[in-house]
Amino acid sequence: MRELQELTRKNIWALTPYSCARDEFKGRAASIFLDANENPYNTPLNRYPDPLQEELKAKLAAVKGVRPERIFLGNGSDEAIDLVYRVFCEPRQDNVVAISPTYGMYGVCADVNDVEYRSVKLRPDFSLDADALLAATDAHTKIIWLCSPNNPTGNAFERRQIERVLTEFGGIVVVDEAYSDFNDLRPFRADLDRFPNLIVLNTFSKLWASAAIRLGMAFASEEIIALFNKVKYPYNVNLLTQQQAMRMLDEIPRLNQWRATILNERRNLLPAIAELPVCTVVYPTDANFFLARMTDADGIYHYLVDRGIVVRNRSRVELCGNCLRITIGTPQENNALLGALRQYRP
Ligand SMILES: *Cc1c(COP(=O)(O)O)cnc(C)c1O
Repeated sequence: MRELQELTRKNIWALTPYSCARDEFKGRAASIFLDANENPYNTPLNRYPDPLQEELKAKLAAVKGVRPERIFLGNGSDEAIDLVYRVFCEPRQDNVVAISPTYGMYGVCADVNDVEYRSVKLRPDFSLDADALLAATDAHTKIIWLCSPNNPTGNAFERRQIERVLTEFGGIVVVDEAYSDFNDLRPFRADLDRFPNLIVLNTFSKLWASAAIRLGMAFASEEIIALFNKVKYPYNVNLLTQQQAMRMLDEIPRLNQWRATILNERRNLLPAIAELPVCTVVYPTDANFFLARMTDADGIYHYLVDRGIVVRNRSRVELCGNCLRITIGTPQENNALLGALRQYRP
């Protein structure tokens, strides 16, 4: 890996971050807070929340097996994705390399930050071509984006290929593991010691069933997390979100039940969809969704919408002609989908 200072934007490396009123007061017990111009009434919502979410990170550290200093929490993973650009990429000068097809936010945030986005096609079976990815980098490439399991294809990439990218690329490699809770593969957050250039993304929006509270996680070296903390909005995770996340962290048995039900449904639904005359291929998945190639994705998409069932039409995405992306729902929802598809007449 190149030196972190060399990878970081000069203005960010030199940045003096905003100092919160409560930063100056540390430790000693106090009960009268006249330092932050808050209204003294309406406890607890009158107070600014903990800018570094220490209580929540301590609890999360135990669940994720990652030390608190290596955790960043943000307003969804989307905040972490945007921060990667703002911390590392000089607009109109640096570039990033990503796979295609993949999650759309990497490209949107590149555009917002005026950073060149280079995409490298996956193989037709959606496997990762690490050589092609590395070949697309140059001296100005700061970031490689990998999403595994990948959205919208559903497959996780071979660990060996991802590790090759991590060792052979001198910049930052982001591995977005939003869906890692839906498979038994070793998560990359367990390997931060081996890869100083690794940033792993997780989210509360998928298995954790909390998309509404907007909470995303990034795991990386203490040095990278310190850069994120310097650049983020001081109070980027509000109190209600922190409290609700703490409650969810007490719900691990429920989470495990949801996972078991979803994986069981996935096991049943994929072959049932594959058998339908309207489906030509169901692609293997390591996530809570799958990609299905249909005889007529547009027609089937609109037919389902007319019946109140919404799937994602990905037919205009590279390598995904005639493909629908379907999330695993409840058993009732999945049965409704199957029933509707069985009655479809072109
Ligand atoms: C759903 C998803 C996320 C989650 O984003 P949030 O902002 O945390 O809701 C992140 N990455 C990928 C690839 C996703 O599909």
